[in-house]
This record gives sequence, C-alpha cells and structure tokens, in this order.
Amino acid sequence: MAEKISIRKMRRLRSLLAKHYSVPAPPDPQETTMEDVVMAVLWEDAPASRARLAFTNLTEEFVDWNELRVSLTSEVAGVLASCGLKENKAVVLKRLLAKGIEELDSFEFERLKGLPRTKVRAWFGEIEGLPHAFMAAILYYVYQYDRVLVSEDIARVLQRLGLVKPDAQPRAIEIGLTKVAPAKEAHSLYRALHQHATGTCMRVGYDCPACVLRAECAHGKERIAEIAADKDAQRRATAKAKRAEAASKKAGKEKAASRATARKATAKKATRTKAAGKKAAAKKTTTRKTAVRKRSR
Ligand code: SF4
Repeated sequence: MAEKISIRKMRRLRSLLAKHYSVPAPPDPQETTMEDVVMAVLWEDAPASRARLAFTNLTEEFVDWNELRVSLTSEVAGVLASCGLKENKAVVLKRLLAKGIEELDSFEFERLKGLPRTKVRAWFGEIEGLPHAFMAAILYYVYQYDRVLVSEDIARVLQRLGLVKPDAQPRAIEIGLTKVAPAKEAHSLYRALHQHATGTCMRVGYDCPACVLRAECAHGKERIAEIAADKDAQRRATAKAKRAEAASKKAGKEKAASRATARKATAKKATRTKAAGKKAAAKKTTTRKTAVRKRSR
C-alpha cells in the first residue's frame, strides 16, 4: 500500500535538498548497454579517473565479459583494487553478468529498455546481494528511471522527517512518492536523500543541530530540544557541584581555623599551669627556708 505523503511538506523539502545537494557527473557512455551497466557500477561512489582506469584494465585483463563472469571473484577484485576501487564491486559485476546469462541468455541488457519501468526495477531489484546504491546507479544512469528509489537509509530519513509513518516500508514510500515527486526530479531527489542519509542523518551519531533539514524535521526538533535540556541539566549539575566544592572548602578552612584556635588556647592554659606550678614551688621553698631559719634561732 502506498504511503500518504504531504505534497506541501515535500515541496519544501525538495527545495531545501536542491539547495544543499547536487547530482554527480554521469558515467562516460560506452559502446553497449551492458558496458554502460558495468561502468555505472564502477562509477558509483568512486573518482571518475579510477572508474575509467578500472574499466580499461578489466577489458585488458579478461578476454571478454564472459571470461570475467566465470573468473574467480578474487581475480576481478584484484584488478579493481589495483585501480583503487572497492573489491565488493567484483561480486556485483559477476552477479549482474550471471543474471544476464541466466535470464537474457546473453549480455544484451539493451533488451531491458523495452520493458515497463516497474519490470526493469524488479529485474535489478531481484538480484541477490546487489546493494541498493548500485541498483540505483544502473537504473538512473542506464535506464533513465524516473521514480524516486527508496533504500532503508532513505526510509529512515523520511520517517524521522515525519513525512511518512515511523514504520513505513521502503516500497510503500516509493509508491507514495510517485504522487508528490516530479519524474524529472526523481534522480536528483534520490541522490540528495541518499547523500543526506549516508552523510548526515546516519542510523547512529546523527547531528540534528547542524542538519540543513532541521527546520522541516519533527524528530530533529524533538532531539534538538532534548540536547538543549541535557546541556542545561549538565550546566546546572556543574554549577551545583562547584557550589558544593566551594562550601566544602569553606567548611574545611573554618574547621582548620577552629582547630588552630583550640590548639592556641590549650597551649596558653599549659603555659599558665606551668607558671602557677613554678610560683607554688618557689613559695614552698621560701616557706621551708623561713621555717629552717626560725628553728635555728
Ligand atoms: S534534523 Fe536530525 S533527524 Fe532530522 S533529518 Fe536532520 S539529522 Fe535527521
């Protein structure tokens, strides 16, 4: 079932996203659609120069694409790694080529262009282990897909934004978006949401106060208020701790002063007692001497 999405909120969101994100340059066109598919995979999330070098090296290392398909993943990964590309692209390429042979009986990916867009999406969506970002790159760059694709990451962003229900599923959101996102903006909207989901609004550790969408985000506003309340509580706790420390220091000083006073008083008393003792002893000596004198007379 399609997710119901506010057209007005979506419009504001599209405008904000367009201000902050852009679509990267498309891959260089190749001689066949299958090669376009390969290049789209190499191009995704990689510098253009490395993608171009990897494409050239793959064509030099393997006799043809079928040889690449039947080669060990580690061999393909080695070529990609030598060009600075992620090795997981080797698995993706081999799976794509395998699906071509299994279902098209060839590498004529051109034939898929004659299918309705939902069928093309399903064809690539069914490839086990094909990461969503690669499927998106192929659909947008090679098959000019004109609907917004929704990955788990993008679904999370739209849920947090309050644009869809908190438990809305990616496919239901995709269908809902067809009613509120113009086809010509599908790719740019996907790219912006993908970049936002993977660079700002990640699953954990996302920074709402610095987010460019915070003004439109229900969850972000709550979180910013929570962060402010936490900071306030922290400030108050620190001030309280400082006051307690100052009071304890003052009490310590007072105790030390009173101990010093008591010590002085004790010392004074001891001095007085000693003097009185001396005086009494002197008096006793005088009395004894007087008595001796009287007796001797
Ligand atoms: S404000 Fe926070 S939750 Fe909302 S989109 Fe931005 S990072 Fe995500």
